[in-house]
Amino acid sequence: MAKVTLPDGSILEVVDGTTAKQLAEQIGPVLARSAVAAKVNGQLVDLSTPITTDTAVKIITLKDDEGLEIMRHSCAHIMAEAICSIWPDTKLVYGPTVEEGFYYDIDLDEMIRPDDFERIEEKMHEIIKADKPFVRKEMTRTEALAKLAADKYKTDNIKRADSNIISFYSHGDGFEDLCRGPHLPSTGKVGSFKIMSVAGAYWHGDPTQKMLQRVYGTAWPTKKELDAYLLRLEEAKKRDHRVLGKQLDLFSFNEAGPGFAFIHPKGMIIWNAIVDFWSSIHDKYGYQEIQTPIILNEQLWHKSGHWDNYKENMYFTNFDGTDYAIKPMNCPGGCLVYKTRQHSYREFPMRIAELGLVHRHEASGVMHGLFRVRQFTQDDAHIFCTPEQIESEIIGVIELTFEIYRTFGFDDFRIELSTKPEKHIGSDEIWDISTNSLKDALAQERIEYKINEGDGAFYGPKIDFHIRDCLKRSWQLGTIQLDFSMPQRFGLVYTDKDNTEKTPVMIHRAVLGSFERFIGILIEHYAGNLPLWLSPEQARILPISEKTNDYAINLQDKLTAEKLRCGCDLSNEKINAKIAKAHSEKLPFMLVVGPKEVQSNTVNVRIRAEKETKTIEIDKFIKITKQKIADKKVDLAF
Ligand SMILES: [Zn+2]
Ligand SMILES: [Zn+2]
Repeated sequence: MAKVTLPDGSILEVVDGTTAKQLAEQIGPVLARSAVAAKVNGQLVDLSTPITTDTAVKIITLKDDEGLEIMRHSCAHIMAEAICSIWPDTKLVYGPTVEEGFYYDIDLDEMIRPDDFERIEEKMHEIIKADKPFVRKEMTRTEALAKLAADKYKTDNIKRADSNIISFYSHGDGFEDLCRGPHLPSTGKVGSFKIMSVAGAYWHGDPTQKMLQRVYGTAWPTKKELDAYLLRLEEAKKRDHRVLGKQLDLFSFNEAGPGFAFIHPKGMIIWNAIVDFWSSIHDKYGYQEIQTPIILNEQLWHKSGHWDNYKENMYFTNFDGTDYAIKPMNCPGGCLVYKTRQHSYREFPMRIAELGLVHRHEASGVMHGLFRVRQFTQDDAHIFCTPEQIESEIIGVIELTFEIYRTFGFDDFRIELSTKPEKHIGSDEIWDISTNSLKDALAQERIEYKINEGDGAFYGPKIDFHIRDCLKRSWQLGTIQLDFSMPQRFGLVYTDKDNTEKTPVMIHRAVLGSFERFIGILIEHYAGNLPLWLSPEQARILPISEKTNDYAINLQDKLTAEKLRCGCDLSNEKINAKIAKAHSEKLPFMLVVGPKEVQSNTVNVRIRAEKETKTIEIDKFIKITKQKIADKKVDLAF
């Protein structure tokens, strides 16, 4: 008999060799029906896996993220079978899951076109309807290599596998694919799916290799969820920041500088509003600010390790016979500032922020408006402290980060902690101290998080912050990274209590990541309807006719004197045309003024996205608006 510990802590005794599926049946018929896989001792496995020792087991359903991923990945196999049955020459490469879907890379000379999606989907429906079991078969690495010797892609996959037991999965008949698993118990467990697109992709992203075809799909437990997802995509298209950026005259790109954004006057107003807020909150949390050069001697980048690890993404230049690099990160500059004088433990923690302009050469294929650019401003900071101060510093960064996200209207966060990778520097002791400090800080703040075991940087563990926007899209923004390498490389020291010189702990952190990208996210999250405090033009006065132009001009002066960003439309257009124009520019407030308003010293306010208008005294409008700006309110109604 084996003792199985269930997630609720209860213990169930089962006969040795009982499969996870049978265990689910013992627990209850509802769970057995919805089960798709199991987690045995922390490892995801097929439902057919036997349980042979005392262990912890969780039955996985489509309600679990892991279950959804297993379904999507299983759907990739089904799509592969469908494609192979239509084009028997297809060579399969690999088919992982991605956020909200999956893809399969295939090598096929004939191009798959969107017109073909329907017949691939039809074939997939057949496979799903047949409800064929996913059957696992194992062999040794040597046997697997012999079996697939003629297939260079699968041979490569086997060589990259970290286990000596290699597994294959078949759909109960002829179709078989090399895969680590796990999968659904049978093809019929796939919910609703759709093939989304096809694109070229190099093998392992290497442009010297053959261009493959990458077929993307998505899969959801129900048709309703699939439809909701497709609707979200439609909505995202409407919110595309590249389209809105042009419509609202915020920024542009030019082939003279691919991947370098030109920020227009209205875009700069948003930018500066963010900088003002960013500076004030960093003041509040005890940061000091520095600025370091963009171009620095190449030798510095040898010392920092960027030359060895990041050279391909860096820009270089040469003058006066000396090689220079354009900084991809701000850290080395920060270290040089630190080294300009001696430091004592008494000064710690030192929190040094920098809005640093960095250049990173991204491949042209991955560029996407402001989301992926080659030049951006990073809201960076480096904290120098003692090991004992790590935990309280991390807490400070977490609180600062959350306050910033909430102010911008994001309150759906996800945190991930990445721990010591196999290849690392620094003693186990310092890794333990710092990883535990990160965990303790998260526990202290009562924050749930996911652990990415072994996924930290070689120089230290890290915490990543992800936010979800209104379309449920996830964005990684902030990061906190401990670094045991750079302070040593740069010979940074401080004098400790016992009068000896020690190496400080260095914490790298960014909250928004890239200003450019964050502005892109804001534009899409709000569909261009930015909160009042970020709006380039907060109000526009619209005189009904020439007769009220003087009143309108006086009013504009008054509002401008109160530091409100206010325009005035003195064109000869009819009032409805003026309203339509202001509407297309997504202005928060339109102030319509006619003879009635002149007489009563009021304005007629049209609030963005509201049908009703309101007549209100000018002073009152100023007071309300200024309060909303000061409070950074998202809601415009009053
Ligand atoms: Zn698989
Ligand atoms: Zn850094």
